[in-house]
Amino acid sequence: MDTTLTTLVLSAITISCLHTASGPDHYLPFIVLSRSRKWSLAKTIWWTTICGLGHILSSVLLGLIGVLVGWQLSKLSMFQDIRGNVSGWCLLLFGAVYLVWGLRSAYLNKPHKHFEVYNDEDIYVYEHKHGEVVAPQSRVKITPWILFVIFVMGPSEPLVPLLFYSGVRRSPLEIIVLIAVFAIFTVLTMLVMVLLGRYGYSFFKTDKLERYVHAIGGAVVTICGIGMVFLGW
Ligand SMILES: [Zn+2]
Repeated sequence: MDTTLTTLVLSAITISCLHTASGPDHYLPFIVLSRSRKWSLAKTIWWTTICGLGHILSSVLLGLIGVLVGWQLSKLSMFQDIRGNVSGWCLLLFGAVYLVWGLRSAYLNKPHKHFEVYNDEDIYVYEHKHGEVVAPQSRVKITPWILFVIFVMGPSEPLVPLLFYSGVRRSPLEIIVLIAVFAIFTVLTMLVMVLLGRYGYSFFKTDKLERYVHAIGGAVVTICGIGMVFLGW
C-alpha cells in the first residue's frame, strides 16, 4: 500500500468508528428492540447489520456524486499538473468547512433525531433540541423496518470528502477500498456497541459526545488533509 492509501484507510477507519460510537442512534434502538422483543443473538446481529449496510448504502450514493465531481474536475487541463496538490487541498478545505459546520451545529443546539425508551419496552423516535420537551403525538414508534428507513435516510457525511478526493485522483482502487473499509468498520462498531449493550455491559456515556459527532468527523478529515498537503502523507 502506498502512503496515501494508508492515510485514507486510517482516516476512514477512524471516522467510521468515531461516527458510529459517538451516536447512540446507531445502537440504542437495537439494544432496546432486542431486549424487549427477546430477539435471539442471530436476529440481533441480522437487523444491526442490515441497518448498518443501509446507512452505508446512502452514504456511498452521496459519495459517488463526490467521485463524479472530482473525476470531471481532474480532467480540466489547468488541474493536470497540480492534481495531487489540489486534491489534498480540497480534502483539507472540506474537512475544515465540515469541522466549522459541526462545531456551529453543536453550539447552536440544532434539532436532531432522538430515541426514547418507555417502560423498557417500546421505543420512539422524534426530533428535538437538547432541553426541549416534545409532544407525544410527534413521536414515531420504532419497528425494525422503520429503523432501516431511518438509517437509509441518514447517510454518514464524512465519507463524501474522502471519496471526492479519490475521484480527483481518478483511483478506482482507492474508491473501492474506502467504501469497503467504511462499510466493514461501521457495521463492526455497531455490532460491538449493540452486543455490549444487549448483554448487559455498560459502556461510556456518549450523550455529550453525540453533539460533536459532525465536528469530530470534520476534525479527522482536516487532520488527514493537513497531513497530505504539508507532511507528504
Ligand atoms: Zn440529543
